[in-house]
Formats: sequence, C-alpha cells, structure tokens
Amino acid sequence: MTGPNLDLTEEHKMIRDAARDFAQNEIAPVAAHFDETGEFPRETIKKMGALGLMGIEVPEEYGGAGLDTLAYVLAMTEIAKADVSHSTIMSVNNSLYCHGILKFGTEEQKRKYVPPIATGKAIGAYSLTEPMSGSDAGTMKSKAVRDGDHYVINGRKSWVTSGPVAD
Ligand SMILES: Cc1cc2nc3c(=O)[nH]c(=O)nc-3n(C[C@H](O)[C@H](O)[C@H](O)COP(=O)(O)OP(=O)(O)OC[C@H]3O[C@@H](n4cnc5c(N)ncnc54)[C@H](O)[C@@H]3O)c2cc1C
Repeated sequence: MTGPNLDLTEEHKMIRDAARDFAQNEIAPVAAHFDETGEFPRETIKKMGALGLMGIEVPEEYGGAGLDTLAYVLAMTEIAKADVSHSTIMSVNNSLYCHGILKFGTEEQKRKYVPPIATGKAIGAYSLTEPMSGSDAGTMKSKAVRDGDHYVINGRKSWVTSGPVAD
C-alpha cells in the first residue's frame, strides 16, 4: 500500500510561503489584541480573502483559488501558527461553508452563495451545534418548517464560529 503523495509542487510552495508571510507580518502583531478584546478581525480576514485563502479548494468559476486539499492544509497551518482564531474562521469559510454548498447545493445556490465567501468579501457560518447537541448531532432540536414558499427555522445554536457577524 502506498501513502498519499505529499510532494510539494511550485504552486504548493507559493501558497504556503504567501500564507506564512501574511500570517507573520499581518496577523501575529494583532493576534493578542483580538484575543483580549473579543472583536472580530474583519480587516485581516478581508485581506486573507483577497489572497485567495478563503476558498482554496473552491473552483475558480465560483471565486476560489481552484487548488487542492494539500494547498489548503499548508496555508491553514501557516495561519494557525500566528493565530488559531484566524485559522478557525478560515477553516469554516473554506470547508464547513463552501464545501457543503459545493457538494450538496444546486447550481443556482453555488453561483449565489459561494463567491462572496470564497473571495472573503463576506463571512460564512455553519450552525450544527446546540446547547444539548454536539458530537451527537442527531439529537438536535432545531427545525425548518415549510410555510408556503419559504421555511421558518426555529431553534437555539451555540459555538458557531463567526455566528454573530456572519453574512
Ligand atoms: C473553536 C471552536 C469552534 C467551533 N465552531 C463551530 C461551528 O462553526 N459550528 C458548529 O456547529 N459548531 C462549532 N463548534 C462546536 C463543536 O463542533 C462541538 O464542540 C463539538 O461538536 C463537540 O460537541 P460538545 O462540545 O457538545 O461535546 P460533546 O459532544 O458533549 O462531547 C464531550 C466529550 O464526549 C465524547 N463523546 C461524545 N460522544 C461520544 C460517544 N458517542 N462515545 C464516546 N465518546 C463520546 C467526545 O469525544 C468529548 O470528549 C466549535 C467548537 C470550538 C471549540
């Protein structure tokens, strides 16, 4: 049995180095400030979007960088070395948000909801966890009930990364 191919291409090295430079120059100096104040780091997140870090595996036609999972992991490791809050926000936009819509969404939903998040112009969130339902997601109590041509969603959520500021 052979393992995964972890040879880095020039593209991998480029995104890793760009993420490392950005993390050390722009995130590390402000990380403690955001930890202490609990503010959301809007400006650095927007800049990460402009660098292509918010939709690394998202195809270019939906506003992403069109790279692979290894590129995503390399970039996120560099961001996390400077500040785990930034890397968690990055992770939710890239995977929980974009991946779910790309995998399960309609073409119309992909075109409408993915590009703003993949480009970092908007912030995504993913609401699974509830006060009494974490790993055991099957016990969640929130419900979406159809009401004519829309749904009414009722329930309580907790631990939602970017929840209070998400678009
Ligand atoms: C930084 C951070 C960001 C997060 N962001 C999000 C987000 O964006 N969206 C979102 O929906 N949620 C988010 N979460 C919530 C996270 O997904 C939950 O914390 C996680 O699902 C675990 O749920 P819980 O905390 O209720 O722990 P529990 O599910 O109560 O688990 C507690 C412990 O019991 C163990 N355990 C659980 N079930 C079993 C079992 N059947 N058998 C054996 N052991 C078991 C677990 O391994 C764990 O050690 C975030 C959490 C953190 C810390």
